[in-house]
Amino acid sequence: MDVDAVIKPEPDEIFDVELEEDILEANRKLADENAKTLLKYGIRSFDIMGSVGSGKTSLIERLVQMLKGKYRVAAIGGDAATTIDAERIGKHGAKVLQINTGKECHLDANLVKKALTRLDLSNIDVLFIENVGNLICPADFPLGCEKRIVVISVSEGEHMVVKHPYIFAEADLAIINKIDLAPIMNVDPIKIEKDIHTIKPSLKVVKTSCKTGEGVEDVVKAIGL
Ligand code: MG
Ligand code: ZN
Repeated sequence: MDVDAVIKPEPDEIFDVELEEDILEANRKLADENAKTLLKYGIRSFDIMGSVGSGKTSLIERLVQMLKGKYRVAAIGGDAATTIDAERIGKHGAKVLQINTGKECHLDANLVKKALTRLDLSNIDVLFIENVGNLICPADFPLGCEKRIVVISVSEGEHMVVKHPYIFAEADLAIINKIDLAPIMNVDPIKIEKDIHTIKPSLKVVKTSCKTGEGVEDVVKAIGL
């Protein structure tokens, strides 16, 4: 059956546009400040975005395991509630700090700025920031990290990319995770990769299984560590 109509809000129907623009502008300024702070301390920083269950925490755990012999690694875990993920990452020897966003569904540069004041920045080489868990609003809120990484998994189905074009447009690296489940899920990772490249042809795509460790070395290479 065809869809009868697609209803879209006019811009002024969803929010006060000026208010929204002020917020985004304020966030951008704070993100620039964070970027300067991180640069000053020579910290390589990565904003890890993706849905709940895509494997952001598992990826960070793998990366910490691989990198901890070479770099002093820290992580900021952003979640609505709980410290479950931060504890998982901390077990591998990284310094971890939790931000609980409450009802907010994304991190913003202000929260990260606060978190940075609580870390001993002169003792950190690499910082991973786990950005709550959705594919929509994090796109609009840069945090000031060197690179933005979006993680999707084949278990989210084959239409995740076309449904969320903006986050891929904003990302510097895309990871297709849980590649070991692709046959079971009947999802073709090549199609997902094609969808990503339709949105942003230059975007580097890495396929991983954070369960088996497949592809994680390619992530390390792709982010230049
Ligand atoms: Mg997580
Ligand atoms: Zn949000």
